Amino acid sequence: MSTLKITDLHVSVETEQGTTQILRGVDLIINSGETHAIMGPNGSGKSTLAYTIAGHPKYKVESGSITLDGADVLAMTVDERARAGLFLAMQYPVEIPGVTVTNFLRTAKTAIDGEAPAIRNWIKDVRVAMESLRMDKTFAERNVNEGFSGGEKKRHEILQLELLKPRFAVLDETDSGLDVDALKIVSEGVNRAKESTGLGVLLITHYTRILRYIQPDFVHVFVNGRIAEEGGPELADRLENEGYDRFLELAV
Ligand code: ADP
Ligand code: MG
Ligand code: MG
Repeated sequence: MSTLKITDLHVSVETEQGTTQILRGVDLIINSGETHAIMGPNGSGKSTLAYTIAGHPKYKVESGSITLDGADVLAMTVDERARAGLFLAMQYPVEIPGVTVTNFLRTAKTAIDGEAPAIRNWIKDVRVAMESLRMDKTFAERNVNEGFSGGEKKRHEILQLELLKPRFAVLDETDSGLDVDALKIVSEGVNRAKESTGLGVLLITHYTRILRYIQPDFVHVFVNGRIAEEGGPELADRLENEGYDRFLELAV
């Protein structure tokens, strides 16, 4: 079993106006096999938390720690984090001109495992994963994220998840822009990874809709750069009914 532990995390970002504090003391422990939903209003710092875990250079850790089985994640490069088993599906994934999905996946797999996957198994694994996500074969030869629809971007992320087999995945608004059919397919992919590899999931979302398909064990309400309340799945139902207003008042 693995544990991703975030302790009293404070993060700032440089803007033209100066240094802005965004995360103000985040505490979170995620064990293998657990799904934690982070729910909060726009601008509360959810993506900042995701980027900080991933090691985006724009976000400066002022204090606090992130560890993976005791190892200092903040001291790791982005590549080292991926090799340690962290995976981030971004809210706004970038295009990689001239790099096909097939080559991208194989390069990523090689970097993470430290050796190239055996070609015959790999081709089969990619085909099976694509079929389970109901992706067309031609998708493999397209350039990463170039002209991808919202739904294709999300499927591509879950394809990576299935093939790279990380220990922990941070899914930032994976539900945004998906119709119900695509949401089901994507959620099934996440659930498969949970069952087959004991993936731990940090599921960041503004809406409760995705939580009907990916059952959270814990729900954290994120307001103004920190967790304002925690509970089980029933907390998501309350948010669905009451919205974030109550928490926004508390945060002032
Ligand atoms: P959320 O994902 O919850 O909508 P974000 O983490 O994207 O929230 O943003 C939190 C706050 O930090 C917002 O006020 C946003 O404008 C600010 N912020 C986030 N990233 C940057 C950045 N790279 N540069 C400047 N401000 C940022
Ligand atoms: Mg936002
Ligand atoms: Mg966001």
